[in-house]
Amino acid sequence: MKSHASSSTDLFANDSRRVKVLLPLPLAGAYDYRVPEGMDVAAGDFVTVPFGPRRMVGVVWSESGDSDLDESKVKEIESVFRMPPLPEANRKFVDWVSAYCLAPQGSVLRMGMSVSSVFEPVKPRIVYMLADNPPEIRMTAARSRVLALLQDGPARTAADLAQEAGVSSGVVKGLADGGVLQAVAIDPGSNWPQPDADCQGPALSALQQEASGQLVAKVRDKSFSVTLLDGVTGSGKTEVYYEAIAECLRQGRQALVMLPEIALSAQWLSRFEDRFGAAPAEWHSDLTGAKRRDTWKAVAQGKVKVLVGARSALHLPFPDLGLIVVDEEHDSSFKQEDGVIYHARDMSVVRGQGASCPVILASATPSLETVVNVQQGRYERLHLPERHGVAELPEIKLVDTLKDSPGRQRWISPPLVTALEETLARGEQAMLFLNRRGYAPLTLCDSCGHRMACPNCTSWLVEHRFSKRLECHHCGHVERKPDACPECGAEDSFRACGPGVERLAEEVSEILPDARLEMVTSDTLYGPAAAAAFVERVTSNETNLIIGTQIVAKGYHFPDLTLVGVIDADIGLAGGDLRASERTYQLLHQVAGRAGRHGKPGHVLIQTTNVENPVMQALAEGDRDGFLAAEAEMREMATMPPFGRLAGVIVSGLDERNVDDVTNMLARTAPYGEGILTLGPAPAPMALLRGRHRRRLLLKVDKGISIQKVLRAWLEPLKIPSNVRVQVDVDPYSFL
Ligand code: ADP
Ligand code: ZN
Repeated sequence: MKSHASSSTDLFANDSRRVKVLLPLPLAGAYDYRVPEGMDVAAGDFVTVPFGPRRMVGVVWSESGDSDLDESKVKEIESVFRMPPLPEANRKFVDWVSAYCLAPQGSVLRMGMSVSSVFEPVKPRIVYMLADNPPEIRMTAARSRVLALLQDGPARTAADLAQEAGVSSGVVKGLADGGVLQAVAIDPGSNWPQPDADCQGPALSALQQEASGQLVAKVRDKSFSVTLLDGVTGSGKTEVYYEAIAECLRQGRQALVMLPEIALSAQWLSRFEDRFGAAPAEWHSDLTGAKRRDTWKAVAQGKVKVLVGARSALHLPFPDLGLIVVDEEHDSSFKQEDGVIYHARDMSVVRGQGASCPVILASATPSLETVVNVQQGRYERLHLPERHGVAELPEIKLVDTLKDSPGRQRWISPPLVTALEETLARGEQAMLFLNRRGYAPLTLCDSCGHRMACPNCTSWLVEHRFSKRLECHHCGHVERKPDACPECGAEDSFRACGPGVERLAEEVSEILPDARLEMVTSDTLYGPAAAAAFVERVTSNETNLIIGTQIVAKGYHFPDLTLVGVIDADIGLAGGDLRASERTYQLLHQVAGRAGRHGKPGHVLIQTTNVENPVMQALAEGDRDGFLAAEAEMREMATMPPFGRLAGVIVSGLDERNVDDVTNMLARTAPYGEGILTLGPAPAPMALLRGRHRRRLLLKVDKGISIQKVLRAWLEPLKIPSNVRVQVDVDPYSFL
């Protein structure tokens, strides 16, 4: 407590206690609040406090206040929630992420409290069961259907009963009024199916057993470690980490599995349920509000034992975390690019450290960051070099489209056409991969050369022919495709340049009119139900040719799929971003891994104009480690990550002049010195994004220097006008 507490002029001071409360707002830190007499609060408690004219829920961040604020200005805590406190590990995690990413603590806290309904009173749910001593009442067919349902099923809500029995809700009400049914109020969140640790998995191979044994031992150890589970696609990584989850369940602790794009991994969920007898809890942006609230609470109460989620799951209040698995750890969707900019794979390691639990990073194409961490002894590595059982890795061939040209306005080369025909003739399935949604990435006027561009972004509009629209894939801007060129007025003068999946589908239906074709993109596969239906159509062979973007590149396991064709392998190499080669290798390797997963040999044809490129060579020769070694050498020479540190500083705003003023101020004060270099400012490659003007600076420091310290010394003294935003991106993955 500060000295003013003893000041004799301060009437409130005597025994009033102060604590610090952090609010989920982008503010500098926690604020002092007074604890009213008789109120019992401790660090981590959720409390309601007045904030300006509002009341807000915050978290007690430390048990002593220290601001110099006059006692009379310090407001009082209104109430404490009777729920488990935010665990200490979570609070430390908030502080850590905030310091590492240079983000306000409150913004980080908000990621774990984004479910405001958690703090609202819950209405109990009313369910109906058979009454113990039912009176005689008149029976009808509808009534007996309801009673039959309840004879051998669990209690259900009136709405569920009515729907399942095919009766109106009045029938249920009539039975309840007549005393035949008995109403019971239950806590809506109380019923969580529990995965069973003792359900048997498949018998593991010797290598798998060796790996799983080590992971199980780590879970038993209850201490922090990071292990790379490095195995080719189909080697059984999932089966192996399931054993670690089973051990975590036997310990009665909670396991968190992080997946990229969880909403779409219907196959993962049903596979988990087959293995453990109950589905895991889920956490991702598609959950309904009620489900989010119930899940959040059940996690906090320790009722959820296994949760699978996208990156935001990291912020949930697990009281007893015993294991974290990050599957497809190399996936760039683990990097959150807006709000608090952080990498969920890296932060899961921090989370594991705070919870003293093992972290498993699984991948067939681990990131260079992780590989270097293994080489330098910070992470351990378990290796599964072979596909399970009879499945072999597919054979990968390059097709030089400069020689084997598909022809004008065509995208499928002759060798790929032949392979498609042969595959479908054998009754097997094929997948064509092209990482571009829509019909064509560029629409050009043939008479004046005008290109249709987004009004809000530095980007071309993509034609979507199904919906007859032009779309910006950056901001979502949509317009009808005009009949005449807006520049010169020429009619019917538009030409589509380059292929998107829609255009590819058009070509396939000409070449293979009998193929049962399905196009799969984020436009068509928008959620778990759509994903499950897609899986079903392929499994039942209703679909035998898939044309897809990266959405089909990962996770799916289709036994009869034996051919993968990559239409344009060079797309990701353009632009020259730091990780362009690494990412292209990972993506294409992953796509290739969809072929031949079940005994029938798989073939992959990669169309490229760059056959000599190291990425293409490494893919064709299956030389991942050679590729990684060469990549590491180049990065080390340039002291680029993971051998040096980077932070992007992005200045943006609606007014270009203000943005330039702030950028110039940043440039004038930019840090320099031994091992410190500031690159830029330059207009960002997307100089206009969602209507905002953008400039970039890039800070690069040697590995031994704290980049956060340098950033703080640079940015904290600056006065940034409120209409300009300065975002810091530590360890950037996007350079747009
Ligand atoms: P990964 O995660 O490495 O891609 P999976 O765990 O998905 O590999 O395994 C690929 C396929 O092989 C799955 O269908 C899986 O059930 C099966 N499989 C892996 N190991 C075994 C095993 N020991 N016994 C039976 N099936 C296995
Ligand atoms: Zn746009």
